[in-house]
Amino acid sequence: MRASTEAIRVIEKLQEDFIVAQGHDPKDVQKLVKDMENCGGKKPPKLPDQTLDEFCCLIYNEYSYCPDDTLKEHFFNPTVTKYDKVSILNRLPNLIFFCRKYFGEAAPSIDPIFSTLPTSILNGFCLDHKSVGTLILLNEGILYSAPQFVEVFQKIPTDICNQVAEAKIPITPEQAHRLKHAMADFLGVLLYFSSNHSSPISMELSPGKPYLPMGFETWKVRLSIESSLTKTYPKDYFTENILHESFNNQQEKYYMLRGLLLFLVAHEYSHFARQHTEMIRRRATIVAPEYLTENIEFLRQIRPENGNLEPSQKSKEMFVLSQPLEMQADADAISIVARYCDEHGLSKEQKQAVYSGVALFFTLSEMLEHMLLVSKFGIEKTQSHTMLAPIERNLLFPREHPVPMSRIPMCICNATALSQTQKEEIENYFVDALVKAEVLWASVSPNAFHVISSDSFEFSSMLRMDLPDALEGLNALGAKGLPDISEPIKMANYL
Ligand SMILES: [Zn+2]
Repeated sequence: MRASTEAIRVIEKLQEDFIVAQGHDPKDVQKLVKDMENCGGKKPPKLPDQTLDEFCCLIYNEYSYCPDDTLKEHFFNPTVTKYDKVSILNRLPNLIFFCRKYFGEAAPSIDPIFSTLPTSILNGFCLDHKSVGTLILLNEGILYSAPQFVEVFQKIPTDICNQVAEAKIPITPEQAHRLKHAMADFLGVLLYFSSNHSSPISMELSPGKPYLPMGFETWKVRLSIESSLTKTYPKDYFTENILHESFNNQQEKYYMLRGLLLFLVAHEYSHFARQHTEMIRRRATIVAPEYLTENIEFLRQIRPENGNLEPSQKSKEMFVLSQPLEMQADADAISIVARYCDEHGLSKEQKQAVYSGVALFFTLSEMLEHMLLVSKFGIEKTQSHTMLAPIERNLLFPREHPVPMSRIPMCICNATALSQTQKEEIENYFVDALVKAEVLWASVSPNAFHVISSDSFEFSSMLRMDLPDALEGLNALGAKGLPDISEPIKMANYL
């Protein structure tokens, strides 16, 4: 939906508050955005005769090849404020199209307004504004950095990680060398992203490059050109391998990025479509009160040595009010991802890449949470906290979203739109990426903790969780950051 002038004003005010809260001058960001626009002004030419099917497979920049009327009908116009980096927003329109399609008639007739906020928190914000309606604000740090993370995650050799995890066959010095290098590259991107090197005014494009990495999907454009050539020339004019390009690195990166971004956008769209902000306002719960009791009972069984655990009042509220909404949004998001894969007729390898992207999203959320906890509470406390079972962490320490890595099995389990066979298939796609994430974090976390504990390391202002008061009173979902792990678990009777 094209946002009204009033909505743009409201979003710009929020963006300015966030920029100022980080100690920057909004004018500097405006200048950067202007420079980026000038740099990205060149658009590729349009190809004639694009069919709707072809259109559905298109993504940003390739959408420049679409006829104007198709674009008008099916693409979403992103809201662009003085602070939005258009090339980032333009990656999203066809993803929003898929979210709307999934909810069908159940989707509200008025679309939400999508825009960005200059933070690096991994989820977006879905919030209610009394005069302009629901806003979905995606955090531009992750939108900007996702391609780099995809690239370094992809390079970590899956087979060697599986070998390490199974610990049956020792790895060779050559394999160890490959693994070490790939992990060091990942750590480098992670630390750069978390450090004060990334700020709303440092997120520039490389000079002379009009598009962000992977903004332009050349392999798909090549296919499109090849298929139009076959209409003109006889089929046997081409050798087989020109017409059917096999799965390659570029495709894998592309689908990983799609998976990550689609999950993120679909999660926020679900909050909007299911009117979760309104439910938070009314304090309406979607689970029966027994839900909490059952979980506490389960917790007692798995940890009898803890005696009678008492979650705080705030924790109870989060567990019964916020977390079920977050879980519902995750279940919708994974179902939308599954539908995206099916509607595009993706191959096994392509689907594997899409789900690896989703796994990467949760992996990063988990890693960043650990790093921020270390910076606030120290290594020892963080480690004893993160060793607790996810259910304990969810219940005993107030938090809005469930523990990141626990969200993968939960979203599959709660996705009522998926059949049992689909659920099993999706679980299998996650396996390799999760093993990779585990081996990776076990190896790099001591280094990451060491670096961020040093005096010279400063966290990026875009990542710090103390958000400005600007979000107060807007029923913002996603705005509550780190759990407070400083409080010891209370050993009093509960119930
Ligand atoms: Zn959420």
